[in-house]
Amino acid sequence: MKKRHIVCPTFDFDAISGFVARGQTTPSWLSRGEFGPRAGMPRLIALLKKYGLKSTWFIPGHTLETFPDACETVMKAGHEIAHHGWTHRPPASLTREEEEAELVRANECIKRLTGRYARGYRSPAWDLSPHSVELFLKHGFVYDSSLMGDDYTPYYARTGDVIELEKPAVFGKPTKLVEMPIHWAVDDAPHFEFVRTETVNRVGLMNANLVGENWINDYLFMRRNTDWGILTYTCHPYVIGRGARIMMLEKVIRTAAKNGAVFMTMEDAVAEFKKRKA
Ligand SMILES: [Zn+2]
Repeated sequence: MKKRHIVCPTFDFDAISGFVARGQTTPSWLSRGEFGPRAGMPRLIALLKKYGLKSTWFIPGHTLETFPDACETVMKAGHEIAHHGWTHRPPASLTREEEEAELVRANECIKRLTGRYARGYRSPAWDLSPHSVELFLKHGFVYDSSLMGDDYTPYYARTGDVIELEKPAVFGKPTKLVEMPIHWAVDDAPHFEFVRTETVNRVGLMNANLVGENWINDYLFMRRNTDWGILTYTCHPYVIGRGARIMMLEKVIRTAAKNGAVFMTMEDAVAEFKKRKA
């Protein structure tokens, strides 16, 4: 069998929604997010175009309604538009009713932009609730990209786990929702975001080349150790869109391409996974 190694470039287009969800609404906090639609997004769209790549953009309803022109630019460039909540609050922090209302509200925004409801969902801050998988299936999602149970191999997400302290875990049944695994190590935000508040002091601001070296090695390891696999990189336009970091991303793309990577949207990667499984 011919070996095949897929890379999914994905962008969480949070803009200011994450700051607003955390109550960080002063002009300076907001400006950090505004950098995304204003400067980061156009650079990323140009970079993707330069290499002829299609990617997936997880966009919160808040961004879709606040920055409609920027979202239209992404869509018109041919990238997949997927779901990232409405307010950018993690599902685990919401009631079942609030979670479903966010799903429906942002999905209507996505349908207005693209003509279709989203096929994919990614949780803000990667924290699903016990209801999430069931709600995704109810609302017609094909895949989720919020869990870390594997690295290069998609799997089917479970519902109905029973987890109690001092008892062995009882896992629920796999569903038909495809899980496209992610990880903080191949996410730009924890490496680069500098955050200082009264309760948080996150240093970030890592040397972009060192982070890029890890990202390349994560691809090369997949190539060496699997016949078929998918590696997902997660980036935020307001984080990766700055000079040294976007140069790093270009180097990662170039090196992976030179080593046989096939780039595609998550929706297409999910379709390939399901076809192989069938
Ligand atoms: Zn996000």
